[in-house]
Amino acid sequence: MRVLAPGSSIGILGGGQLGRMMAVAAAQLGYRVVGYAPPADNVAAEVCADFFHNGWGDTAALAAFAQKCDVITWEFENVPLKAVEALPQDRLAPHPRALETAQDRLNEKRFAEQQGARSAPFAAAATEADFKEAVERIGAPGILKTAREGYDGKGQWRVRSAQDADAIRFPGKPCVYEGLVEFDAEFSVILVRGADGEIRYWDSPANVHQAGMLVSSTLPAGDLVAAQVEQARSIAAKVAIALGYIGVLTLEFFATKDGPVFNEMAPRVHNSGHWTIEGAATSQFENHIRAICGLPLGSTETRFAHVEMRNIVGPDALTAHTILAEDGEPHLHLYGKAEAKEGRKMGHVTRVSHTGPIG
Ligand code: AMP
Repeated sequence: MRVLAPGSSIGILGGGQLGRMMAVAAAQLGYRVVGYAPPADNVAAEVCADFFHNGWGDTAALAAFAQKCDVITWEFENVPLKAVEALPQDRLAPHPRALETAQDRLNEKRFAEQQGARSAPFAAAATEADFKEAVERIGAPGILKTAREGYDGKGQWRVRSAQDADAIRFPGKPCVYEGLVEFDAEFSVILVRGADGEIRYWDSPANVHQAGMLVSSTLPAGDLVAAQVEQARSIAAKVAIALGYIGVLTLEFFATKDGPVFNEMAPRVHNSGHWTIEGAATSQFENHIRAICGLPLGSTETRFAHVEMRNIVGPDALTAHTILAEDGEPHLHLYGKAEAKEGRKMGHVTRVSHTGPIG
């Protein structure tokens, strides 16, 4: 892969906070960023040199966008494949097959299993009858998830018992039903793969979720996770290699008494990697940019004994500046979203310490 000279332009599909943080990292390395996303509160636009607020079906706008970009990546994994197919394929990084795999939970699980991962028992549920049959076969408790486009717990329904299943209104789109995993902790493997195939991993944080949304990522992750990271990394590496992946890739796992159970993958930078901005020698955002621009990868080493990232959600963002008065090293990031809606990720804070655990 050729090395992109400073001053070259990086296209980013998607306009959210991940794009915003990626654009900041790109600017630091001397690149211009051109964003593209449908009209919305595109907070990445504020830090991009240029931004197209156009729909995914607008082929003229996609062509105009592509003309301005030397390489094109994404921060949003649900970019419709049709839009991606309309772009010059030799300028895309990672390869769009990663999007295709991750956009559908069924594909994703089958693919991960082919690479040696173990998933929760699951079944496709295209109809309500399939769903009922899946609950009977796999049992309850479990979770019904839309196969596509769910995020942060949206498009998910907990099934506590077989009777519960009767009370759930089937969403009328293809779903996956999966058994509930009894886990002791959750963790993610975040890796970067360079254009030359080199893979580097950040330390795996222990992730806490509530109602399907990430609350915090903490390092070190504890003994149980530490004992399972090697196996999880080897699966993540197989996934990255099989996809011919370039850039940052995230796989989420449950740490169970029987070892790591794969939950899902994100073919992009990830919320559980935000701690790397201050907590690691090179952030996930910078290494993603380095990888897609053909630059040498940076060290992924953790720089502190203790790191904790907490999301700032909804109206809490309105008073988040008080965090700055704390002792220690609170690193506040606010994403500039116009409305602090309940349940919306508005920012995060990363606290680091050379001495004791945070909090
Ligand atoms: P997902 O959107 O699939 O990443 O799910 C979000 C969160 O819901 C996970 O991080 C877990 O905390 C929980 N969850 C999802 N699927 C399962 C499962 N099969 N068993 C137990 N917890 C789950």
